[in-house]
Amino acid sequence: MEKLSIIVPCYNEQESLPIFYKEITKVADEMKEIEFEFILVNDGSKDNTLELAKELRKKDSRVHYISFSRNFGKESAMYAGLQKSSGDYVVTMDADLQDPPSLIPVMYHAIKDDGFDCVATRRVSRKGEPRLRSCCARCFYHLINKISKTQIMDGARDYRLMKRQMVDAILKMSECNRFTKGIFSWVGFDVKWLEYDNVERVAGNTKWSFWKLFLYSIDGIVAFSTAPLALAAIFGFLFCLVAIILIVVIILRTLLWGDAVAEWPSLICILSLIGGTQMLCIGILGEYLAKTYLETKKRPMFIVKDEE
Ligand code: UDP
Ligand code: MG
Repeated sequence: MEKLSIIVPCYNEQESLPIFYKEITKVADEMKEIEFEFILVNDGSKDNTLELAKELRKKDSRVHYISFSRNFGKESAMYAGLQKSSGDYVVTMDADLQDPPSLIPVMYHAIKDDGFDCVATRRVSRKGEPRLRSCCARCFYHLINKISKTQIMDGARDYRLMKRQMVDAILKMSECNRFTKGIFSWVGFDVKWLEYDNVERVAGNTKWSFWKLFLYSIDGIVAFSTAPLALAAIFGFLFCLVAIILIVVIILRTLLWGDAVAEWPSLICILSLIGGTQMLCIGILGEYLAKTYLETKKRPMFIVKDEE
């Protein structure tokens, strides 16, 4: 019999996990044609998530868990889960039921019957989410799709079902600056998109603050585009052009009307503008350098403290 692995990164999910388990087992019991395996990845939770996972493991042998030594982030948790999974098909999904388990049979049949390698999901609405957050998310997708060859679908979730072949391709990408949405797209394969309206989390709170999301979006851009590095060259070129024009204007004006030293405030403005732009460009360079530095250290993506 074929096997389906369900990977669930969990960080402080003691409220959601029992509800999630109830819902997912309902789906598993309906799908008699395939064997299930649930991999709960405890990403350094400070609540009772690990104890709950251990309890589930005791009463249901299909449940496995991995527990990290601290919080390493959702990206690392997903990678750990993919590594541990042994299914012919793998699903990655959140513990808060924002990814409706009822879609799993639909996804499975799209792969089995229609020959896709992967079925991915995207939410077409963002109801229940702060306006500013939705707006920034939209801008981010617009920007990254403009400056990167890797296309990322607006509203794409990490909720998807993949064939083993695709999972193995993702596991080969062992970069530590992981932006999974980009990695999913980069590996290619035939992907079918399912759309659904946003569902609010069933219990507990979101683990992503606005600031965390902002930093994550920068990670995404740095990981999948080098276009920002060209900014320094573009600014440099523009400023040289402006400077040449200004030099000609000033020489002509001095010859025609005399000394122009009286206008020092405009000089300050120009100096600040150029200084600021230089700092910005150095900052962008620094961002890429920092990522390269971290990547060359080859630190492990996560440290496992306990697993079963
Ligand atoms: N998560 C994780 N590590 C983290 C943050 C989140 O494993 O550092 C998990 C979390 O438990 C949940 C999933 O990632 O299962 C998505 O997180 P959340 O629901 O907070 O994000 P949102 O849906 O608000 O984007
Ligand atoms: Mg969520």
